[in-house]
Amino acid sequence: MATGNPIRGSRVGAGRMGEADRGETAPRHRLEFYCANGHRTRLSFAVDAELPDTWDCPSCGLPAGLDSENPPAAPRNEPYKTHLAYVKERRSDSDGEALLAEALAKVADRRTPRG
Ligand SMILES: [Zn+2]
Repeated sequence: MATGNPIRGSRVGAGRMGEADRGETAPRHRLEFYCANGHRTRLSFAVDAELPDTWDCPSCGLPAGLDSENPPAAPRNEPYKTHLAYVKERRSDSDGEALLAEALAKVADRRTPRG
């Protein structure tokens, strides 16, 4: 139970410093993405990596862009509302759709030459 091994300590320190040094000298692109909610996401990419125009915001999931003044608009499909609206729309339209389908079927039937 040695209270501080100077040799070991210096070794670990040197190793860590070496790694950090290597990481910093590696050329990287640093990009900042901004979402419509004002979140900023900093990312770094390897220089040979393909740089994306947009990134999904890790905070809220909205698409984030490189322009802080003009972030990508939030997509309109909000899961809860859309689903409910969708169901409602379907119900209210179902009668009309059935009638329309029936009418179309009749027209198609008339148009289709038989024999
Ligand atoms: Zn966000």
